Amino acid sequence: MNEKTDLKNLTLPALEQFLQGQGKERFRANQIFKWIYQHDAGTFEEMTNISKDLRKELAETACISNLKTEAIEVGSDGTRKYLFNLGDGLAVESVLIPIEGRNTVCISSQVGCAMACEFCLTGTFKLTRNLTTAEIVNQIMAIRHDVRESGEEIRNVVMMGMGEPLHNLDNVIPAIQIMIDGNGLQLSNRRVTVSTCGLVPEMERLGREIPNVNLAVSLNATTDELRDRIMPVNRRYPLKELLKACKEFPLPGRRKVTFEYVMLGGINDSLEDAKRLLRLISDIPNKVNLIPFNEHEGCDFKAPTQAAIDAFHSYLIDRHVTVITRDSRGGDISAACGQLKGRLDTKSIA
Ligand code: SAH
Repeated sequence: MNEKTDLKNLTLPALEQFLQGQGKERFRANQIFKWIYQHDAGTFEEMTNISKDLRKELAETACISNLKTEAIEVGSDGTRKYLFNLGDGLAVESVLIPIEGRNTVCISSQVGCAMACEFCLTGTFKLTRNLTTAEIVNQIMAIRHDVRESGEEIRNVVMMGMGEPLHNLDNVIPAIQIMIDGNGLQLSNRRVTVSTCGLVPEMERLGREIPNVNLAVSLNATTDELRDRIMPVNRRYPLKELLKACKEFPLPGRRKVTFEYVMLGGINDSLEDAKRLLRLISDIPNKVNLIPFNEHEGCDFKAPTQAAIDAFHSYLIDRHVTVITRDSRGGDISAACGQLKGRLDTKSIA
């Protein structure tokens, strides 16, 4: 018997094709899409504006997946970390960050990561596998299910969890298409951000295929020498090439590239670094996200001092750069940047 098609792996045009391939009317795709993404339907039974016969046939060839929530940890600042069971013994983490009623969800794109950035916890686990499109959108949907219970919605999605989204573009692109589809999750494309360590050809592909999505680039160093050391991807795509790709990324109107900069105490947090950073990004519409390093076991880097953070921040602000220094939200539950590890505690599996 053939395996059933998980409809959550399909964009709207792909769903139309799927239906057409089964000799069904294409316009049903819109209805089904709405049931799945707007009404959270988990079965075909619920789709009451579709004929009983079609529902029955669909149930034979297709299914609608969801993720099992294995654990939720709530931080003192309201941040919630979700551990999702992927059904094959693996797990991923996602984080809900409620900032003044504007719920932001930070989602994962892979189990583990192949990029091996020296300071990142996920990188130490190597890549186990890519997440499917369904698994990517299901993280948002599972969390949305929860926030909707208190009458809220999810406003922003950032792909800054586990994994390198541009290393899994074949699944990430359809997932973003589902997120921004008017019949899908209905997120505005200006509220979806893809964060990359700097895979240049994939940045170009993303820009071609979804030109309006926000781009965040984890710069983290201002010289090739240091970046080569802490982010191996730089040996393939050095700063010059990376910044050229940022400059050419098709952002609409007045939107800016976000440069993330993890501040590592005594390594990249000097004023010289701030000066070089400014020089590097000054001809790209930019904003800067300073992220004080979150310390974790087995990693020797240290968090920067508050004085170093303040001086770096002020240097940029004084030169009219938009800077946000991230408070380490979710720090007490290890849900802060770079702390996700997605370990499924075998004891907790029923
Ligand atoms: N692979 C993507 C997205 C995941 S990492 C990327 O590289 O952008 C998301 C952000 O967390 C990146 O900016 C990364 O540099 C940062 N990060 C990783 N480990 C961290 C740590 N221990 N402390 C603070 N930020 C960290």
